[in-house]
Amino acid sequence: MEPADRETVTGLPPGIAAARGELTPMLSQYADLCAAHEDALVLFQVGDFYEAFCEAAETVARVCEVTLTERSDSTGDYPMAGIPIDNAAPYLESLLDAGYRVALGDQVEDAEQASGLVDRAVTEVITPGTVVEDDLLESGSTNYVAAVAADGGVDAGPAGTTVGLAAVDVSTGECLVTAGDADAVASELDRIAPAELIAGPDAPAFEPSDAERGWATHDYDADAFDRRTATERLEPYLPAPERRFDADAGLRAASAVLAYAEYTQGDDGPLSYVTRIRRYDPRDRLRLDAAAQRSLELFENRGLGASDTLFGVLDETSCALGRRCLERWLRRPLVDADAIRSRHDAVGELADRSLAREGVADALATAYDLERLVSRVSRGRADARDLRSLHRTLAVVPELKATLAGADGERSVEGAETGTAGEDDPDLPRTDHLRDLRDRLDGLTGVRELIDDAVATDPPQEITEGGVIRGGFDDDLDALRATEREGREWVADLEASERERTGIDSLSVGHNQVHGYYIEVTDANLDRVPDDYRRRQTLKNSERYVTPELKEHEEEIVGAAERADALEYELFVDVRERVATETERIQALADALAELDALASLAAVAVERDYVRPDLRADPPAGVEIEGGRHPVVERTEDAFVPNDADLPRGSVAVITGPNMSGKSTYMRSVALAVVLAQTGSFVPAQAAALPVFDRVFTRVGASDDIAGGQSTFMREMSELTEILHDADADSLVLLDEVGRGTATTDGRAIARAAAEFLHDELGATALFATHYHGLTDLAEERERVFNLHFTATREDGDVTFLHRVVPGASSSSYGVEVAELAGVPGPVVDRARDLVAAEEADRARGASEAGRSDAVDGEEPTSDENPADRDGDASLREFLAEEASEDGSEFDSEPYSPATERSREGERTRPGTDADESPAGASPDLAAALRDFDLARMTPIEALNALHDLQSRLDDDR
Ligand code: ADP
Ligand code: MG
Repeated sequence: MEPADRETVTGLPPGIAAARGELTPMLSQYADLCAAHEDALVLFQVGDFYEAFCEAAETVARVCEVTLTERSDSTGDYPMAGIPIDNAAPYLESLLDAGYRVALGDQVEDAEQASGLVDRAVTEVITPGTVVEDDLLESGSTNYVAAVAADGGVDAGPAGTTVGLAAVDVSTGECLVTAGDADAVASELDRIAPAELIAGPDAPAFEPSDAERGWATHDYDADAFDRRTATERLEPYLPAPERRFDADAGLRAASAVLAYAEYTQGDDGPLSYVTRIRRYDPRDRLRLDAAAQRSLELFENRGLGASDTLFGVLDETSCALGRRCLERWLRRPLVDADAIRSRHDAVGELADRSLAREGVADALATAYDLERLVSRVSRGRADARDLRSLHRTLAVVPELKATLAGADGERSVEGAETGTAGEDDPDLPRTDHLRDLRDRLDGLTGVRELIDDAVATDPPQEITEGGVIRGGFDDDLDALRATEREGREWVADLEASERERTGIDSLSVGHNQVHGYYIEVTDANLDRVPDDYRRRQTLKNSERYVTPELKEHEEEIVGAAERADALEYELFVDVRERVATETERIQALADALAELDALASLAAVAVERDYVRPDLRADPPAGVEIEGGRHPVVERTEDAFVPNDADLPRGSVAVITGPNMSGKSTYMRSVALAVVLAQTGSFVPAQAAALPVFDRVFTRVGASDDIAGGQSTFMREMSELTEILHDADADSLVLLDEVGRGTATTDGRAIARAAAEFLHDELGATALFATHYHGLTDLAEERERVFNLHFTATREDGDVTFLHRVVPGASSSSYGVEVAELAGVPGPVVDRARDLVAAEEADRARGASEAGRSDAVDGEEPTSDENPADRDGDASLREFLAEEASEDGSEFDSEPYSPATERSREGERTRPGTDADESPAGASPDLAAALRDFDLARMTPIEALNALHDLQSRLDDDR
C-alpha cells in the first residue's frame, strides 16, 4: 500500500509485535489499535501526550524532532516518543508532510472514573486528503480526497470504459461525483487536485500532470468498491442510490471515497454533514486542461509573485466561504449562457450599487467559516466558541438582507429621492439573481436564539470545566451555581468573622489544590486559636487549620461545582446536537453567503479595475470581439499597459508574428482570459467585449518558452499538441504559443504549419497562433479564415522601442538584429548579421517569383538546416554561429562582456602555456575544452555570440 521507497512504520511496530504475549494491559491496548490500523502510524494518548513505541517511536522522534525516551515496566524496556496533545498541530503536520497517515488513539473515558485501564479508541485518522483540523488547513482553500473506479462491463473495451470519480472535502462535507472516459476524468482530477487519490481495483492509473499539485495514490479496501456494498453504504446519504448515478463507476467511486472518509473520522458510521452528493457532468463546465490553467496562470504563477495570478486579481472576497466559492467558479467556469448572464446581472447590480456592495463586504467580513463550523458541529467536535462563532455568523444574515434591500438609504431608481435609512426598498434587489440569493439567506432564528440563550458569550475552549452555559438557561444548573456561589461568599466572609471571633488580626483564609480551604494563623498567635480548629498543615512560621463548618461548606462548594460542570457539559452537548439537526439548512445558508461574497468580489474588481460587462453572443455562436482589451494580471505590474483590440470571427486562425518581447504571448492570453472571466461570471478588462460561449480552452506553449516548467521536452510539447488536435472542435478556443520551437527549424516549421492547417481545415476551432516562423504568415493567402496580425517596434537612431500594439498583417522583420545590437553584440557581428538577413531576403524574393507560393514548407529552403541564411532566427542560431566561426574574426577589437565571457576569461587565466603551433582548425586543446564546456542550452543567443567572439579573439592570440 505504501510506496516502497519510503521507510514507513505503520501498523504494529515489530518490537511490540515481538513482545505481544507479555505486554502490560496498556501496551496490549496500543498493540490492538496498531493492528487494527495497518496503514497508519498510531499515536496513543497517555495523559497529556500522544505516544508511540518501539520502531514507531523512532519514526516520531526523527520526523517530529522530539526526544526518544524509554518506557520501562515489569515486562521490559520500550523506546517511546511523544508529542504534546495541546500543541499537536505542528508535529502532525510534519508527519503528514513525511507521508504518514496518523491514527489518534484517544482516551475515550474519563481517566478518573475508569476502573482500571482507561478505554481508548481511534477517533480519527488524519491523512493529507482528510484533515479537518483548522490548524492544518489553509483557510479558504479546499482539501479533497478522491476515489476513482472503472466500469468493468463485459463488453466494455478499454476505449469504452467509463471511469467514475468522487471527491470529498471532509472539512466542509462537500461531495462531488462525476464520470466519463479516462481523459475526461484525468482533466477533472487535474482541476480538483486532490491531496489523496484512492484507486479502485480496475481503475486506470492517473498521474498528476503538474507535480506541484500532485496527489498520492493508494489502494483501499476493495470491498468498498463493490457495487452491492456501495449501494448500502450510500443509502444513508441519498435515497435509492442505485438509481441516482448515470454510471456504476460513479456510484462505486462515491462509496469508496465516503468509506475512506468515514474510516478517517473514527468509523462512527455515515458522516452526517455530507448532506449532498453533487453529481455533475464535466461537459456542463468550460473545460480548462491543466496546461491551460498553468499557462494562463489562473492560480499559480511561476515567474512572478504568487498573487500575480488571475485568482489573485479577482479575489476581493471577505470571508473564507466566498474565497472557496470564487475558486470553485474559476476552476469550473460555466457554459450555459443563461447562467452566465444571470451572474453578470448580479455582478452588474452590485457594481452599480456601491453602498450595497460595501455593506455586503463589511457584513461578511465578520462571518466565520460556516462550512467548517457546521461540519464540526455535526461531528460532535465543536466547542462553545464554535457555537458562538456560528451565532455571530447567523447574526449577519438580517443585516445582509436589509443591505440588499437598500435599507442603507440608497436609491432604487436613478434620480429618485434618497430613500430613508432603515427602510427597505421593495424594488431592490433589482435582478432576479440577487433577489433569489436574498431569499436564500435563511436567518435560522431558532438556532441563533438557542445558542444565544444557552452558550456563554465568551466561553473557554474547554467544554468540560464549566463556564460554557449561560445563567438562566437551566434551573438545575442555576441552583447548583447558586449553592456554589453562596458557599464561596460564606468563605469570603469567614476571614473577617474569624478575626473578630479570635482577635487575631493577621488570621487569613486561603485555598490550595491539595488541602482545599484553610485558616492560617502565625506561630505568634497560636495561643489564641479556638478549640474547634483542626490542624491540617504545619508551615515554617504558621499553622493551617480547618473547622467542621468550613469543611462542610467546602464540600458543598466542590460538590456543587463538579455537578454543575458535568451538567454544563451535558447541556452543551444537547445544544450542539440540536444545532446539528439543522446541518442542511446551515449548509444552504453557507452556500448563499459564499455566492454573495464571490459576486460582491467580482463586482468590486469590476469597479476598481474598470472592467466591462461582456455581451454574450451564444446563439448563433459568434466570434470574439474585444475593444481595448487588457491582460488582467500584466496590467497591474506594467505602468503603461497598451490595450489592444481582438476581432476573431468564429473558426478563424490568427497568426501572430513580431519580435521577441513585443507582446504576442500577453495578447493571446488576454483574449483567453477574457473568455474565462466572462464564463466565470466576471466582467472583463476591456472597453467593450462581445464574446461567444466556448466549451473548452486549450493552450500550448512551445517547449523553449516554458523552460521554467522544468519538465518541458519536445516530446511533451508534441503530446500536448496531439491532445489538442484530437479534442478541439468548433466550440474550442485554442492558443498555440511558439509551438514547434522545441525541435530543428525545418521540422518545427513543418509541424507548426501542419497544426495550423489542421485546426483550420478539420477542426474549425477559433485559434490564436503566435509564432516566430514567418513562413507561416503565407497561410493567410491560402486559407479563407486565416489572417495575420503582428506586433511592431519603432527604430530610432538604432534604438528599438516596442509599441505592444497589435496591427493587421504580417510582421516585416523580426528586429532580432536590432535587439542583438541593443544588447551589446559587437558591431562587426551585427553588420554581418544584417548582410545575411538582406541576402536571404533577396534569396526569398527570387525564390518566390520563380517557384510561386505553392509549397511553402518543403519548397522554401530545401537545405535550411545547413543554411546560415535561414531567416527564422533563433533556431538557426547554431548554424549561423558555425558560419561565423569559420570566418576570420580578427578585426574584432571591441570589449565584449557577458557571464559566458567571464567564464571563459577565468579559463584563460588558469590555462597552462599554449602551443603556438597548434593549427586553428584543430584548435588548441583548451580552446576545444572551452568550446565543449559551452552549455548552449543555458545561454541566451547574445551570450553565445559574445562568448564565441571571445573565443575567436583567443584563437588570434594563439596564432
Ligand atoms: P512575446 O510573447 O512577443 O515575446 P510577451 O507577451 O511575453 O512578448 O511580452 C513581453 C513583455 O512585454 C511582457 O512581460 C510585458 O511586460 C510587456 N507587455 C506585453 N504586452 C504589453 C502591453 N500590451 N502593454 C504594455 N506592456 C506589455
Ligand atoms: Mg511569447
